[in-house]
Amino acid sequence: MFGRPHIQYKTREQVLLMRRAGLVVADSLAAVQQAAQPGMTTGELDEVASDVIIGAGADASFLGYEGFPASICTSVNDAVIHAIPGGTRLHAGDIVSIDCGAIVDGWHGDGAMSFLVGEGSAADECLVATTEQAMWAAIAALAGGGHLNVVGEAVEQVVAAAGTQERHYGIVEDYVGHGIGTEMHQDPDVLNYRSRERGPRLRSGMCLAIEPMLTAGRSDVCVCEDDWTVMTADGSRAAHWEHTVAILDDGISVLTAHDGGVSGLAPYGVTPVQLVTGAVPTLQD
Ligand code: MG
Ligand code: MG
Repeated sequence: MFGRPHIQYKTREQVLLMRRAGLVVADSLAAVQQAAQPGMTTGELDEVASDVIIGAGADASFLGYEGFPASICTSVNDAVIHAIPGGTRLHAGDIVSIDCGAIVDGWHGDGAMSFLVGEGSAADECLVATTEQAMWAAIAALAGGGHLNVVGEAVEQVVAAAGTQERHYGIVEDYVGHGIGTEMHQDPDVLNYRSRERGPRLRSGMCLAIEPMLTAGRSDVCVCEDDWTVMTADGSRAAHWEHTVAILDDGISVLTAHDGGVSGLAPYGVTPVQLVTGAVPTLQD
């Protein structure tokens, strides 16, 4: 852990391959969100995602990863990440965090989103929206260059600005973002919090999974008896958003967003690079 990170820098052609995996992830997440409703089980959500991934001719990154038994993670309420889909039934007002990875021709995409099932509380809406905002602020910061610690700085700023006297969000520190490419998890670690370490210089060819996890309480988390599910230690609710982002010579591109990041980055004055992958069908076509 004291060595220099071994970063896999991608060519533009390789980033185009990753874009194809990213679009499968985007399609899967959209399909799961569209399908989710009270009464459904998280196992049924996994089937929705699996159908999209297999239908696209891709493979699920998570299935079999260190023994993980499903295609997506379905973390509900105080579960932050890594929950195994199964018999858990969704209720109106639940926060569901879906994490999905896909492999196309050996290249990975990794993305996650949180949403409310049916009508939710204003507090939960705010937690989900703030987490998404933290992710976009962090992605936008990558466009400005410098070093990797711009990510944690951006997340901290969003969390601080969202705090009030009654409300303070925790930033989960035990799990972080990561490099991604021919493996789902590569160097470097991408911290979601402020650090004295600047981290590696941002360079063209880096592909990073940017994935802040916020709680409505403290930062501490614990792992359940199933050895997978990560829960908040204080029982507070959590949200998780993630995109796979490529840094290119002429800007950044959000590989797991259907629009390449156009709408998410617009508030920051950042226009992402548009990658054309050829005849790759997506749900949006
Ligand atoms: Mg993920
Ligand atoms: Mg990830």
